[in-house]
Amino acid sequence: MKQLNIASYGAGVDSTAMILKMIEKKIPIDQVVFADTGGELPETYNTVEYMKKFLEKKDIPFKTVRNFGLVTLFNKCITRKVFPDMFKRWCTRDFKVGPIHKFYKTIYKGFKINEYIGIDVAETRRCRTAKEDYITKHYPLVDWKMDRLDCERYIFEKGFPYVIKSGCYFCPFNSLLRWDYIKKKHPKLYRMCKKLEKQSKHYAKGMRLIKQNKRTDDVCGNGFS
Ligand code: SF4
Repeated sequence: MKQLNIASYGAGVDSTAMILKMIEKKIPIDQVVFADTGGELPETYNTVEYMKKFLEKKDIPFKTVRNFGLVTLFNKCITRKVFPDMFKRWCTRDFKVGPIHKFYKTIYKGFKINEYIGIDVAETRRCRTAKEDYITKHYPLVDWKMDRLDCERYIFEKGFPYVIKSGCYFCPFNSLLRWDYIKKKHPKLYRMCKKLEKQSKHYAKGMRLIKQNKRTDDVCGNGFS
């Protein structure tokens, strides 16, 4: 069976460093795929555009996949009166993993896929083996023992523009620091989050979208950062 190397891109620090390092180490990349929930911050969409152009010069195809048609994840939350669930992770399943697997199955049907995921060494606990028999997951940042700071330094050394933490602006895993950033830099988006929180049914007692006490700062849980 033919094999393909596909890098999963979340447009955050880890996956950006991973792709740059794979290129430096001459690890072949047949495809880069980015799952767009429609809810990234504008800074992250700028990073996506920059990465697209950067890869184009290296003849590496870049594909954005979506699962929302005309409905973004945020709009779906508003309509359903819920915010993304920290436990069930339906948002990751329906708006990240699902569209990527659909892309694999339609465009690369019959291929064995080596999927490269940007999880840094400090988050090794998040590494998983694939449930699908046609996918083998690889975690090169773990193999290279690179943590987040190493990734940030490496991106800077490569002359790539500053990359912020990616993830939906309304993500329940946002750290308090990120909420403060959103509030200051993107007050309109922050107000939208407050609206979503106010109108949502909560899955668990005391669960809140913004300023929740316990924060893991763990976005998506599947390496899409
Ligand atoms: S970034 Fe957060 S809200 Fe967005 S898909 Fe991932 S877990 Fe869900």
